[in-house]
Amino acid sequence: MENYEVVVIGGGPAGYVAAIRCAQLGMQVACIDERTGMDDKPALGGTCLNVGCIPSKALLDSSHHFQFLQKESAEHGISCDNVQMDVAKLQKRKQTVVSQLTQGIGALFKKNKISSFHGSARLEANKQVVVTPADGATAITLQAQHIIIASGSVPIQIPVAPQDGEYIVDSTGALSFDQVPERLALIGAGVIGLELGSVWSRLGAKVTVLEALPNFLAAADADIAKAAARALKRQGLKIQLNAKVTNAEVKDGAVQVTYDDAKKGTQQLEVDRLVVAVGRKPNTESLNAEGVGLNLDNRGAIEVDEFCQTNLPDVYAIGDVVRGPMLAHKGSEEGVMVAERLAGQKTEMEMDHMPWVIYTWPEIAWVGKTEQELKAEGIPYKVGSFPMSAIGRARAMGDTTGMVKVISHAETDRLLGMHIFAANASELLAEGVLSMAFEGSSEDLARTIHAHPTLSEALHEAALAVDGRAVHS
Ligand code: FAD
Ligand code: AMP
Repeated sequence: MENYEVVVIGGGPAGYVAAIRCAQLGMQVACIDERTGMDDKPALGGTCLNVGCIPSKALLDSSHHFQFLQKESAEHGISCDNVQMDVAKLQKRKQTVVSQLTQGIGALFKKNKISSFHGSARLEANKQVVVTPADGATAITLQAQHIIIASGSVPIQIPVAPQDGEYIVDSTGALSFDQVPERLALIGAGVIGLELGSVWSRLGAKVTVLEALPNFLAAADADIAKAAARALKRQGLKIQLNAKVTNAEVKDGAVQVTYDDAKKGTQQLEVDRLVVAVGRKPNTESLNAEGVGLNLDNRGAIEVDEFCQTNLPDVYAIGDVVRGPMLAHKGSEEGVMVAERLAGQKTEMEMDHMPWVIYTWPEIAWVGKTEQELKAEGIPYKVGSFPMSAIGRARAMGDTTGMVKVISHAETDRLLGMHIFAANASELLAEGVLSMAFEGSSEDLARTIHAHPTLSEALHEAALAVDGRAVHS
């Protein structure tokens, strides 16, 4: 039996960050992850690095360049006839990006003297963790003083669209198509559906997104969602709301999708590939939660308090496997918090300042409350909006679609939310997150000098607009 101060289950952004922070604080750490990469080697980094955030962004960037060359370069005086997409090369590049980053985590583990186990972990009584190695070797038992569970999440499957790994696939399958499907449908207009729909649409697929709910991007600010729906439609993405998929089957090399349209009744759609992107669920199956008396909530997530403590002493859980948004950075921060608290620090986490990003183009990004949430909660607020079309840098870039919306408290002016639909919104948002973390006001943003010409001037103008003094509109 090997002894460790901390045993981390899962090497995704929650688990690997927790492991590294524990090691930095002088603890002796083991991290167990069962994932194997495309090259059949152990692959640290979890969903995010292997089949999530990173490969999706690699494909989004490649497809963005392709679309630029095809549709926008001529305006810049760049002529390129016969632009071709080599899907095999696109996928190879994506895989190289993934491998570089996953291997990087392995190197960080070595540097921090973290013992890395490739295999499946199961909880046992008395803070023991049994590792069944992926290579079939004999199981090893680790004795832990503290356990951090970071086993992540897996895609939700729906019985009406049974996946066959070729025609009907999940997000992982949709990241690995070896050719551009002529006709593609995605079930679910959530973050993953929109990002993957954008990738293949830019590469030439005729894309339909079927969404059961009546509102598009209900979690986003309604003005931003409306503007995004318009832009995505213009790009060729067909988004069908009120469309609940009731059946999907493969017939003669195509997928026949049946859905209930709230207005038109039962509808049929024939596509070449169907992607099920209806969300993800906590991954607890292999943990032996019941066996050790670890409490799960009604969604199957491990129950934790604000400090990620489970009902079992010295057992913590972080990331997608617990409550809260399934975002990589949320899991990582929870990992840091747990590690630092184990070291006796009083670290806390502020969930209200969580950045959200959807990597469509333009990108959608927000922090804090939406206008509709503030209305529902009866909080008095002021709004300043500014269009990207009035920003010099956006014009120079040729990216004038979108807007920035700053919301502050009507009486105190304290920032309550920032909502961006713009080129590079993911990067611009950091200013809003930081301002909110520092309890800033719209006046603080308005008085801060923003470099010219930059896209960030839209944040400045929106903050000025809160008091009706935007200069350029
Ligand atoms: P995971 O990353 O899922 O890692 C858990 C790891 O634990 C896995 O490797 C798993 O194999 C391993 N494991 C589980 N059980 C065991 C066991 N019993 N023994 C050993 N190992 C085990 N989030 C963002 O913030 N930004 C994005 O842009 C973004 N894009 C995404 C795009 C896609 C297509 C998808 C699918 C997800 C995306 N996400 C994004 C979500 C993000 O990937 C997750 O929020 C994040 O990976 C969660 O981290 P985690 O460490 O909790 O879990
Ligand atoms: P997210 O959880 O953000 O990934 O989004 C998943 C989306 O899938 C949600 O908006 C759901 O409403 C949608 N959804 C779930 N089941 C179905 C279904 N059978 N048909 C169409 N949309 C669905």
